[in-house]
Amino acid sequence: MDLRETADEQAFREEARAWLAAHVPAEPLPSFDTAEGFALHRTWEAELADAGWSAVSWPVEYGGRGADYLKWLIFEEEYWRSGAPGRVSQNGIFLLAPTIMEVGTDEQKARFLPPMARGEEVWAQAWSEPDAGSDMASIRSKGTLSDDGTEWILNGQKIWASRAVWADWCFGIFRTDPESSRHKGLTFILIPLDTPGVTVRPIAQLDGDTGFAEIFFDDVHVPVENTLGGVGRGWNVAMATAGFERGVSLRSPARFNVAVERLIKLWVRIGDPDDDTMRDAVTDLWMQAEGYRLHTYLTVTKMLEGGTVGSESSLNKIFWSEMDVRTHELALQLLGPEAERLDGPYESWVDGFLFSLSGPIYAGTNEVQRNIIADRVLNLPRA
Ligand SMILES: Cc1cc2nc3c(=O)[nH]c(=O)nc-3n(C[C@H](O)[C@H](O)[C@H](O)COP(=O)(O)OP(=O)(O)OC[C@H]3O[C@@H](n4cnc5c(N)ncnc54)[C@H](O)[C@@H]3O)c2cc1C
Repeated sequence: MDLRETADEQAFREEARAWLAAHVPAEPLPSFDTAEGFALHRTWEAELADAGWSAVSWPVEYGGRGADYLKWLIFEEEYWRSGAPGRVSQNGIFLLAPTIMEVGTDEQKARFLPPMARGEEVWAQAWSEPDAGSDMASIRSKGTLSDDGTEWILNGQKIWASRAVWADWCFGIFRTDPESSRHKGLTFILIPLDTPGVTVRPIAQLDGDTGFAEIFFDDVHVPVENTLGGVGRGWNVAMATAGFERGVSLRSPARFNVAVERLIKLWVRIGDPDDDTMRDAVTDLWMQAEGYRLHTYLTVTKMLEGGTVGSESSLNKIFWSEMDVRTHELALQLLGPEAERLDGPYESWVDGFLFSLSGPIYAGTNEVQRNIIADRVLNLPRA
């Protein structure tokens, strides 16, 4: 792996930096977990797409730039450094799109990718159920073929679907073979959320925003053409998405580099220079963020050479989520009593801290990732 940038990569970085400097809103947008914030973030997605920055690694015909993953990492670095808005389309662009590219038909690629890149169709991920979170193989929501075989009739309930309150579509997994159990007989289906029989019920968070929803399906009819990756192959399709989510796409390193840089600034401003323990802890986090960045470059280099992201993506997921919690905990510790003030003289870390606590839960809990590592990376015997 050669970490030096080529002239082409440098030019790409400079182009991205210049565009972001000219277009990132001067004031942060309201949270996309509010109606107003969601709409503003959707507009931002369209602005990104107009300039070809929405999905840089996609083929040009679907709204991307045909850039490789190294350039995608460069874009992410510039994006996070610029303080640009969070990506309201992230479920679609970073999770569903790679799966559509891998297993979707040409018609599905042409139908779904361009409006996704423009934020015209925002996607929610409808996998978790009340009794199927970590143990997703216990999914009970059902899909039954209509008598003429042209439609799925969906029934059941999903939960914790991020951004589903205002999203347009969801991608879900349904048991389509009633005789099957566990990982078999599941199918990955794409569903417009305005289909009759779909009820989206918001779940209020502690801060009052509605970042999540339950989704109820009561005799919901969708065309069989909305099947992604083949009938009965839902588990394999979902695992490809999950591997990508944990491994590379969901949390690119720049997010953490930028957070640690903010932590260092805070330390310089209010840290006690004689407190070696705190100084070491801040330095350690800088090294962790840098280590994660370099490791991601290694992973992406492997992918460019034809490799895939496998079970080792679980290592990544544990690493970034625990690093994020420690970064925010340390900021609160540095701030001391000031940490609780939202209008104090220092930038607030409270929202970020609260969100960091969910990192070890979403995209598969860290306990479950440790099981995967024990089983498939270390090949330890099962108890
Ligand atoms: C911020 C956030 C966003 C989310 N967004 C989405 C979304 O968009 N779409 C979606 O479908 N879901 C989403 N989820 C749900 C998430 O995927 C689930 O919360 C997660 O998979 C855990 O499932 P659960 O909540 O049912 O907990 P459970 O599976 O009931 O787990 C409870 C506890 O038991 C532990 N545990 C369970 N099984 C084992 C085991 N075999 N070995 C050791 N420990 C175990 C878990 O680690 C956890 O600590 C989101 C969650 C959060 C927090």
